[in-house]
Amino acid sequence: MRIVMKFGGTSVGSADAIRQVAEIVAESRREHEVVVVVSAMNAPDLRTTDTLINAARAAAEGDGDATAQVAPRLLGLHMRAAAELASPAECATLEPELRAMLDYMSDLSRSIAVLGELTPRALDLFSGLGERINARLIAAALRSAGIPAEAVDATGLIVTDDRYGAASPLRNETRERAQTRLLPLLAAGTVPVVTGFIGATVAGVPTTLGRGGSDYSCAILGDVLDADEVWFWKEVDGVLTANPRVVPEARTLPRLTYSEMAELAYYGANVLHPKTVLPLVQRQIPIRIRNTFNPTHPGTLITRERGEGAAKAVTAIKDVSLVTVGGPGMLGIAGVAARIFGAVARAGANILLISQASSEQSVCLAVPQPESRAAVAELRRELAAEFSAHDVEHIEVIEPAVIVALVGSGMRGTPGIAGRLFGAMGEARINIIAIAQGSTENNISLVVSAADGDEAVRVIHRSFHL
Ligand code: ASP
Ligand code: MG
Repeated sequence: MRIVMKFGGTSVGSADAIRQVAEIVAESRREHEVVVVVSAMNAPDLRTTDTLINAARAAAEGDGDATAQVAPRLLGLHMRAAAELASPAECATLEPELRAMLDYMSDLSRSIAVLGELTPRALDLFSGLGERINARLIAAALRSAGIPAEAVDATGLIVTDDRYGAASPLRNETRERAQTRLLPLLAAGTVPVVTGFIGATVAGVPTTLGRGGSDYSCAILGDVLDADEVWFWKEVDGVLTANPRVVPEARTLPRLTYSEMAELAYYGANVLHPKTVLPLVQRQIPIRIRNTFNPTHPGTLITRERGEGAAKAVTAIKDVSLVTVGGPGMLGIAGVAARIFGAVARAGANILLISQASSEQSVCLAVPQPESRAAVAELRRELAAEFSAHDVEHIEVIEPAVIVALVGSGMRGTPGIAGRLFGAMGEARINIIAIAQGSTENNISLVVSAADGDEAVRVIHRSFHL
C-alpha cells in the first residue's frame, strides 16, 4: 500500500517522541510505501509555531530583536533533539542549515520592525519556519536510524492561491508537482519527509493553509498521490465514544464513517476537521487515526462503510444560548423564519441548532453564548413591527445551555433510539429544553441547562452501552 502519514506537533515534540516516529516509519516501511508529513515541534515548554508568530508580531510592534532573541532557543530545541537522534555527521550539516534559516528570519524581523507593518504574506514566512526546520531534523533522524529519507519543503509541492494565512490548494498543479517530485523518491525506496502547513503560490511565494493546517497538507498529498490509506498519528488511541474527562469509561471506536466523523467534529469532539479531510472523503480514501505513543493499538478506521451499532458516540457543545422567538401571530406568516435567520446572520452569530414545532408558535435556535446579545438585538430590530402588532410577543434567552448530541449513521431507520434517549433522560430527571434531529438521522441533539450537561452525556453513554 501507499500510505501518507502525518505526525502532529506533540508526536514530534521531543527527542523521545521523534524516536517513536522513527520506529513507526521503519516498521511501516517494511510493508508499505510511506510519505511522512510533519508539523512543527510542539515541545511542552516551547511551542514552535506560536513562538514564531509572536516574534513576528513583536517585530511589527517595533521590537526588531524579537526573532533574534527566540532564535537560539529554537535552534537549541531542535539541535538538542538532533544530538540524541542523529549521527554527528548529520548534526554537522543540520546545524548551519537551521542557523541560516533562523538568521534570515531575524533579518526579516528587523525589516518588519523598521516598516512597522506585518503583512499576512510576511507572517506566513515566519509561521511556516517550524515545519521547515522540523522536516530537516526528522529526515536526519530517520537516516541516522538507517532509513533512507529526504526532507521536502511543500512550497515545491502544494500550489495554492494567494490567501495568505488560509490558502487553498490548486489541485491539478499540486498533483503534477507532488507526483513529479515524490514518486521518484518512493520508487527509490526513500521516505519523503514533507513539511505540513505550508505551500506556495504559482509564482512561488510561500503561503500557509491556516493554523492546524498540517492535517490538511496530509489529506491533500494523500489525494494527489493516490494513497491507499492516510494515517494521522496523534497522542490519543483514536476517536472516543465520549470525552474521557466527562465519561471515564469512554472507549476508542474501532470504526467510523466519514459522516459520523464530521458530526463529531461539528459537536466539538477533538477529531479531524471535516474540511481538512474533504480531499480524502471525496476520493473515499480510508483514514486512520493512531497513537504515536501506543503504536500497537489499531486506532480508529474511518471509511464510507458503517460498522456495527447504531449510536456511536455522544458529544457536547458547551456555552451556548438558546434563543426562542415566539408569539401567536407567527402562525402561518411566510418568511418569518427567513427573517429570523437573516437577522441572526447579520449579527454575525453562528446558528448551531434550530427547532420549530409544527404549531409554528415559536422558533428556537442555539448560538454560541458570546454571540447571543448581538443576535437578540438584531432580532428585536428586525421584528419591531411584529412586536408592536403583538404578532411576536417574546424573545427569550436561556443561557448557559449545552447541546448534547448522540451521533451514529446507523441510527437512520433504526426505531426506538429517540425513545431510549428520552427515557434515559427522564429516569435521570434531566430536563430537556429543546430537541433537534435532522432528516439524515445522523444525530439527535438535545439542549439541556449547563448544570445538567456532563450528567446528560454520562447518562446517554451508559444507556446506549457506548
Ligand atoms: N504548526 C502549525 C500550527 O501550529 C500547523 C499544525 O500543527 O498543524 O498551526
Ligand atoms: Mg498542530
